[in-house]
This record gives sequence, C-alpha cells and structure tokens, in this order.
Amino acid sequence: MGCDPASQVYVRNKHKACEECGIKSTIIELPETTTQPELLAQIEKLNGDKAVHGILVQSPLPKGLDEHQAFQAVDPLKDVDCFHPENIGLMMLGTPRFLPCTPAGVIELLVRTGIEISGQYIVIVGRSNIVGKPLANMLIQKAKNANATVTICHTGTKGLSYYTKQADIVVAAAGCAGMILGDMLNTNCVVVDVGTNEIEDSTKKSGHRLVGDVDYESASKVASYITPVPGGVGPMTIAMLLKNTVAAAKLTL
Ligand code: NAD
Repeated sequence: MGCDPASQVYVRNKHKACEECGIKSTIIELPETTTQPELLAQIEKLNGDKAVHGILVQSPLPKGLDEHQAFQAVDPLKDVDCFHPENIGLMMLGTPRFLPCTPAGVIELLVRTGIEISGQYIVIVGRSNIVGKPLANMLIQKAKNANATVTICHTGTKGLSYYTKQADIVVAAAGCAGMILGDMLNTNCVVVDVGTNEIEDSTKKSGHRLVGDVDYESASKVASYITPVPGGVGPMTIAMLLKNTVAAAKLTL
C-alpha cells in the first residue's frame, strides 16, 4: 500500500478484523518511490511464501504504478479481493473460486435481512470493476440468492430516475454524495448504499464526516429498508474478505 489517507483507514480496519478472528495479517507499506518492478517483485515473493494464503494490493497505488498489472501478478489462488481476471472470469461463468468482497457483502446483507432477490428488478448505479460490474454479474446468475433482472446505470445514463423509480432494489455505488433522493425511488423499495464520501462538517472535530450516495433523510421516508453509511456495506465488505481468506487457506491445505 502507499500513503493514501483513506486507504490507510481501510487497511487498518481490515488488519483489526483479521486480528479479531485469528487471521495473521501483515501490512507491507511500500514507499511512494516504489517502482513497478519492485512492486511486482514484492508480490512474487508473497506468491511464493507458503505461510501466506491471501494477498491484497490496496488501491489506489501511488502515481505511475500500474494497478492492473499488479492485480494480475497476484497468484489467483491467493487473490482474496477477487480482482484477478481468472477469478472474475470464474465468477462470471457461475463457478466462482472467490467472490468480490463488496458485491458479496451487498448480497449477504440482502439475504440475511430476508429480502427476496430472485425475480426482483435491481438497479445498480455505478459500473466499476470492483462494485457495479461484478455485482450485476452475480445477481443475474441462475442460482440461489440471484436470478434477478438487473440494469446498470452510469454517467452515460440519461434520466437516471426513470430506472431507479421502477426498481425493487437500488444499489448506489457511484461515489457521489447524496445523489439518490427519495423522489427517485419506488415506494417500499430496498436501498443499499455502497457509497462512502467524505464531506465537510464543521461540527466534527475532524472537520468532515462520511456520507453515502443516497440522501438518507429523504430516501428513508420512501424505502422499506435502507443501509446506513457508515456501518452498512463497509463492515460486510471486510467480513467477505475474511471469508475469502479462510477459503484461500483451505485451497492450499
Ligand atoms: P468508481 O469511481 O470506480 O466508479 C463509480 C461509478 O459510478 C462509475 O462507473 C460511474 O460511471 C458511476 N457514476 C459516477 N457518478 C455518477 C452519476 N452522477 N450518475 C450515474 N453514475 C455515476 O467507484 P467505486 O470504486 O465503484 O466506488 C463507488 C463508491 O463506493 C465510492 O464512494 C467508494 O468509496 C464506495 N465503495 C465502498 C466500499 C465499501 O466497502 N463500503 C467498497 C468499494 C467502494
């Protein structure tokens, strides 16, 4: 990992969660001056270490480093983030080795709350490789806890609320503070807010606070269920990472 402040918080939270459940976690901080060959050599070293079952390359990498090349350098059997093309391919084909953590967390959250997914119309706002695209793929599988009809909306979508207003479930993953308002939603829909955006708040000691992509105030008046930010999808993402790590360890036993 580099020195990005948000990344440092994420990494600390993951490290703490590992400690709490008995998984040994080591943080390797590489200097901002790290070159691509040095980064790849570090990943190679971890790939070859039998005591290491999972490897995370914390994004964003310092400027000038190729993130995709780094993700692809991770041994697919240790790819507990599920970013490697081999693992994304397996997931798309419906025969997953690992599941990407945030999308898996969103689905687990719905399932544990008793919300039906099969046959539902789900609108995802955001098409990133780590949230929107894999989540849509997981939800359309002909499988348990899936079998939904999915639309992905993004910056090229005209008239976003046309789609969100019809949805039984809206998943907001755009990285745009408060962009989904109550009047864009179907009455009694379910709202899952993946967004984590830092906004200024002079009442806080830090001068800022975290908010989601959904305007909680107006959306919570319309929705039957809505996840909070912070405290909703974030902890689920970490839980799924731990689950993948245990699965990775079992693969090499
Ligand atoms: P990203 O920037 O890679 O992708 C955002 C996507 O949203 C893009 O595909 C873009 O087309 C779309 N988008 C942006 N603005 C839009 C708009 N106004 N209308 C429609 N579509 C729009 O982001 P990401 O990595 O997928 O993350 C999205 C958000 O989720 C961020 O706030 C991020 O911090 C958060 N996140 C949270 C967790 C968690 O565990 N809670 C995990 C990953 C990401």
